[in-house]
Parts: sequence; structure tokens; C-alpha cells
Amino acid sequence: MICERCSKEIHKREKCDYCNRTICNSCVKSSRRVSKIHRTVICKDCWGKIPMRKKYKSISKRSQQA
Ligand SMILES: [Zn+2]
Ligand SMILES: [Zn+2]
Repeated sequence: MICERCSKEIHKREKCDYCNRTICNSCVKSSRRVSKIHRTVICKDCWGKIPMRKKYKSISKRSQQA
């Protein structure tokens, strides 16, 4: 499997929840558990986009309050 962001081989597969690309661990900017079974992952590209970053922060904030 190849990372859709940096085209390197993936050892530990991650998926960005904001652009829906399959990415490698080094392309993950941040990840946070949002429930017992779900984790939200944001890649470095999406982190650079303010609307995406706001979305990520609002999702992770909501999970902290719950
Ligand atoms: Zn990558
Ligand atoms: Zn992304």
C-alpha cells in the first residue's frame, strides 16, 4: 500500500477524515480519540487549511466535554 500524500510505502495505515486519503504515519499531523471505537485523524495538508483545522478542533473538543 502506498501513501496517497507522500507516495511512500505505508507500514501503519492511517486515513485522514478530512480529505479521505489513505496516508502513512508520518503524514498524520494529529489524531484524537473521539469515542471508544472511533479516532479522528488529520493529515498535514488538511491541518494547513483553516476550515479543516476548525472542524478537527470542534470534533475533538466535543469529545473532551462528553
Ligand atoms: Zn505519507
Ligand atoms: Zn487530509
